Amino acid sequence: MRKGLASDVFSYFSDNKIYQYDIERALVKFCKKDILFVKHCYCDLSDKEIEIFVDWFLFYYKLKDNKQKPLKFYYLTKYLSFNEEDKENYKNLLKSVYSLWKICKIDLDKGMDLENMYNKKHIYVKEKIGTHDIDIGDIIVNRVSKIDDHYELLGNTNWYWLKTEYDHPVLRELLKYKKANPKLVRDLMEQFFETIEKLKNGGREKINKKLINGDECICEMCHKQGKIGGLQFDLITNEPLLYCKNCASKFVNYNN
Ligand SMILES: [Zn+2]
Repeated sequence: MRKGLASDVFSYFSDNKIYQYDIERALVKFCKKDILFVKHCYCDLSDKEIEIFVDWFLFYYKLKDNKQKPLKFYYLTKYLSFNEEDKENYKNLLKSVYSLWKICKIDLDKGMDLENMYNKKHIYVKEKIGTHDIDIGDIIVNRVSKIDDHYELLGNTNWYWLKTEYDHPVLRELLKYKKANPKLVRDLMEQFFETIEKLKNGGREKINKKLINGDECICEMCHKQGKIGGLQFDLITNEPLLYCKNCASKFVNYNN
């Protein structure tokens, strides 16, 4: 597969005046800011955020006029102009899968066997450098695509968890969904770091005052006393809100 396939498609939309509204609308959603901010902030996204935005836009955003996802729309409307190789390349890209992958087997400098944590399916990816800094059981977040006769990880690995971090709050939260997408992962990560900041800024003392017997609380949802299973901060007052394990396992702490 030739390089830059996805960024070619993104340029088609971002350079085309007809889609300016869609690009801005997508940025408003992605940055969670209003349009005036978006018109000035685009260049402020870091390289990593741009990579996440482009992936999310191509695979998950729905164009205003036809409700199609940009990559699929591009593929369908440009299909006749593709050469045979690109027909195959774009088809593979469309079928690529963004997910959390558990490393099940490592062949140094050759590749890795990955398990999709959402459907338990295995896939063998060709990989060289990435086989060195990783351990069996670690979890990576990435898009996997067929390239010619094999599979590869696309883009840079933005996040990963070591096998010692299986109880990481973001990982636990992500696994409550049917599948992951780059914006969801970014948003949950952001929420997590915001929470850490709030804990540092006096939040922990407020939580301590609400604790009963060290690890129990009066749950904000069911109002019963139970072991702590979840924590949120009130968006307006910044008060910590504690939830019992039972309620925390039911709510999904994210609004797309
Ligand atoms: Zn509860």
